Amino acid sequence: MMPEAVLQQAAAEMLDWHGSGMGVMEMSHRGKEFGEILARAEGDLRRLLHVPEQFHILFMQGGGLGENAIVPLNLSRGGTVDFVVTGSWSVKSHKEAQRYCDARIAASNAEGGHLSLPDPAGWQLSDGASYVHLCSNETINGIEFQELPDLKALGSSAPLVIDFSSHVASRPVDWSRVGLAFGGAQKNLGPAGLTLVVVRDELLGHALDICPSAFNYRTVADNQSMYNTPPTWGIYVAGLTFQWLLAQKEGELTGVEAMARRNAAKAKLLYDAIDGSSFYSNRVDVGCRSRMNVPFFLADDSRNADFLEGARAAGLLQLKGHKSVGGMRASIYNAMPLEGVQALVAYMREFERLHA
Ligand SMILES: *Cc1c(COP(=O)(O)O)cnc(C)c1O
Repeated sequence: MMPEAVLQQAAAEMLDWHGSGMGVMEMSHRGKEFGEILARAEGDLRRLLHVPEQFHILFMQGGGLGENAIVPLNLSRGGTVDFVVTGSWSVKSHKEAQRYCDARIAASNAEGGHLSLPDPAGWQLSDGASYVHLCSNETINGIEFQELPDLKALGSSAPLVIDFSSHVASRPVDWSRVGLAFGGAQKNLGPAGLTLVVVRDELLGHALDICPSAFNYRTVADNQSMYNTPPTWGIYVAGLTFQWLLAQKEGELTGVEAMARRNAAKAKLLYDAIDGSSFYSNRVDVGCRSRMNVPFFLADDSRNADFLEGARAAGLLQLKGHKSVGGMRASIYNAMPLEGVQALVAYMREFERLHA
């Protein structure tokens, strides 16, 4: 879900942005009005995520899957790239990169069924790899890195690339361990169509000749994300979301730190309810359970359709698990309030009481 305040503001400004006589969709992307929107969005995101100045923030298109090609086109130099495969999305990233470079698997949790994270101490990192790729939150499998690996401490000088599509802005990022982070905006930031890339300056300028100009990070950075028309509506709504996130408070914390505390509390409530019942189960290793995407199963799969129908009637939507995993999945992204998770837990208890 999106923050309601953001949807309300976008609706109120849809026909006339700040007295300009135009809606954002009607503006020239090179005009002064959109220039203000873009600059504010970038500045707010930098503040929100504490992005250091040696990183560029790029607003692109193509989605997470587009980046699965765009990253190797820009960073691989046609050489060796290491993948840490931990679920559906990193499987896809590894497969796509094979078209552009020697994409190896440094570690995988496929054997256990994508339920735990391979210990970094055992990763088979290649000498001279152009970069190491991992998905920091596996949306479908419900696995999250609670801490990013320190590749230097593991003996590798390769930059770390993370796909943070589904938990961007849900917790702080340790930029000292990151070379590039990418993510589609549609899970946690705004409407589909905007892709965020945060990349260290030193990684620009090494694209393969076959890299499309519009996807060359150097070109995009040199043109302030305006080499070609950027996804203006997506940037605008994501910008409103950045403002909303910056204003969030939990105790003495604000912004992304407040979100991290709130998201931890939401996730704990749901996992405790699942673990405290023999009617529901979550199979992911407790050390790497996602705070954003919580897959769970009913003890009796034949009740799934009843569970979903009752949930819908209670206003609890989109709980069906991904088809590759089955069961249920609660995606409790940033905009989902604690009350939403409380309502889900209350519904789960009631369903269990009636059907256990
Ligand atoms: C949703 C998702 C994607 C998919 O990105 P598209 O924008 O659909 O191309 C990629 N990676 C992760 C981790 C995701 O959750």
